[in-house]
Amino acid sequence: MTRPIKAIVHSKAITHNYNQVKQIAPASRAFAVVKANAYGHGLERAAKALAHADGFGILEIEGALALRRWGMKQPVLLLEGVFSQSELIEAARQDFFVAIHEPNHLMWLEQTPLARPLHIFLKLNTGMNRLGFPAEQARELVGRLGQLSSVASVTLMAHFATADEPAKGIEKQFSRFQHATEGLKLPISLANSAATFAYPQTRNDWVRPGIVLYGASPFDDRSAKDLGLQAAMTLQSQLISVQHLQPGDAVGYGATFIADRPMRIGVVACGYADGYPRHAPAGTPVSVAGQRTRLVGRVSMDMLTIDITDIPQAQIGSPVELWGSEVPIDDVARSAGTIGYELMCAIALRVPVHEG
Ligand SMILES: *Cc1c(COP(=O)(O)O)cnc(C)c1O
Repeated sequence: MTRPIKAIVHSKAITHNYNQVKQIAPASRAFAVVKANAYGHGLERAAKALAHADGFGILEIEGALALRRWGMKQPVLLLEGVFSQSELIEAARQDFFVAIHEPNHLMWLEQTPLARPLHIFLKLNTGMNRLGFPAEQARELVGRLGQLSSVASVTLMAHFATADEPAKGIEKQFSRFQHATEGLKLPISLANSAATFAYPQTRNDWVRPGIVLYGASPFDDRSAKDLGLQAAMTLQSQLISVQHLQPGDAVGYGATFIADRPMRIGVVACGYADGYPRHAPAGTPVSVAGQRTRLVGRVSMDMLTIDITDIPQAQIGSPVELWGSEVPIDDVARSAGTIGYELMCAIALRVPVHEG
């Protein structure tokens, strides 16, 4: 038998979650965002679960080409644009939609002979100050793009910095976008997962959900379950050893956890080299033999330790869920001071992925 850790990806959950987005935003088309190997779920498996999607959003052109090889004929948007003139040529050959956000991109569009005119997503900076032309240039840029034979259509695109934080909201960015683009009769794409769920006015022509497809919530105050989502990944392993501690005994590196009563400790074949966050503190939820308990002691490279004092049926070989439908990935992330996105993207290569 091999080391018992595995990531089980639930294709049906991904399909369900996409359909959930379509129910929330029935009037919009939705790019299923599959960048970063579909947030760690495997691009091919996710794409096949999303074969009915209106389109795909991705950063890596290699992934976009793979989508075409697997028979996906719908629009594929290169969310971060192209990184060279030769990528622009390839994008036109494949009829990818291309975001442009830099003067360089405009220059390439003006100078490069292309196989066919491109569908352009004009990325406007409305206050996140990461990518995009200053929103106030929208009118002038649309005018310039309109004169290029290399441009088939223009969609206005922006991205929100705080759609997931109700206290901060999107008002400032949204009104800057509206003001700058008033009167331009062009399709619009603004919403990531959080905006799609929280701000109906941002749904427009194309929404761009990512995290919700994988069954995690972008919000602190609304769980994936509240949003009607299903966990798309179960990270599971088994107990490979059981230790008995007396009061005063420590467990793991740094001896950071010390028993204050007689305890049973389960040793799980999962560590930070599998993608489990090393900084997850004692108390982080985990489930063993179907019962929820807590991490104790430091996470090692290949192992972590959990409290099984009150779970007598837990023994060597008992199944352990690190995250999944019993232990929401968002709960683990919150405890570890990060977000579900980071955990799912960080699943290590050595963890075998199964369909489940
Ligand atoms: C990653 C990404 C998204 C998806 O964001 P989520 O928060 O995962 O929904 C949407 N738009 C752009 C431009 C992105 O890069």
